[in-house]
Amino acid sequence: MIVYGPVPSRRLGQSIGINNIPPKSCSYSCIYCQLGRTNRMQVNRHEFYKPEEIFHEAKLKIKQLNNKNEYADYFSFVPDGEPTLDINLGTEIDMLKCFDIKIAVITNASLIWMDDVKEDLMKADWISVSIDAVDEDTWRKIDRPHRSLKHQDILNGIVEFSKVYKGTLVTETMLVDGINDHEACIKGIAEQLAVILPKKAYLLVPTRPPAENNVKRPSKDSLINAAEMVHSISGVDVECITGDEKEEGFFFSEDIVNDILSITSVHPIREEIVNEMLKKRNLDNTVIDNLIKQDIIIEYLHEGKKFYRRNINDI
Ligand code: SF4
Repeated sequence: MIVYGPVPSRRLGQSIGINNIPPKSCSYSCIYCQLGRTNRMQVNRHEFYKPEEIFHEAKLKIKQLNNKNEYADYFSFVPDGEPTLDINLGTEIDMLKCFDIKIAVITNASLIWMDDVKEDLMKADWISVSIDAVDEDTWRKIDRPHRSLKHQDILNGIVEFSKVYKGTLVTETMLVDGINDHEACIKGIAEQLAVILPKKAYLLVPTRPPAENNVKRPSKDSLINAAEMVHSISGVDVECITGDEKEEGFFFSEDIVNDILSITSVHPIREEIVNEMLKKRNLDNTVIDNLIKQDIIIEYLHEGKKFYRRNINDI
């Protein structure tokens, strides 16, 4: 399935995923990648699917949503590989615009120095680019790039793009314990962000299972220090994402308990959303009541509305 969802996403609301790259074609083989090691390492753009095929699936998805009175905030290109390897990305974005839904692309930015990639990305409303390191050694260690890529070209490409892009640009930095969470590395990233000035800098931590077993999350202190340093040097808003999300969203499995726990680990969830999730599976409130009784979930009121959050002592 190329078009899936919608899935609730912390950053993008209800997001319809577009998987325009089959697993796993990428220009990187990040040590933290949840898709495992890259088996199709590549940097040349080409066609993976016909744009018409993607458009057709998207049309069906929108029809299904309309029938159920549901909606989506975004189409997000968040595939099982690097989305800009798709030579039809710009055409696909153009075609999807007729649905009047915003379009997001989450890219590792490794090809952003290419003019045609920049042009394609310019068409989207929201772009996330990865910056895991600004020094070449750390970049090679963490992202394990295709041998033909040049780190400076990528960093310059991101800066150039940030100067002309009219949509919302954010950055993602995956912090890995002992690799890029030390002060010098964070300082370098922060200085780079001060030039790019994204709307927000997201700091992420690896979720299991990463491509390499020895990849570990940084400690909470290290993450807090990194967030403070990035903010104070760059002036950019920083947000940490530490839950078990997959890239850009929570994936609804058939296991409602896991779904609720994975969402509440990252942020509180409103009562209505939980009710909706239960309703979709023809379940009543017993599921959430049991989680509260077991002290796994905490129920609380905020501005008159009921929320649930994960009891962090339980994690
Ligand atoms: S994390 Fe993204 S950029 Fe890195 S190897 Fe996996 S798919 Fe490629």
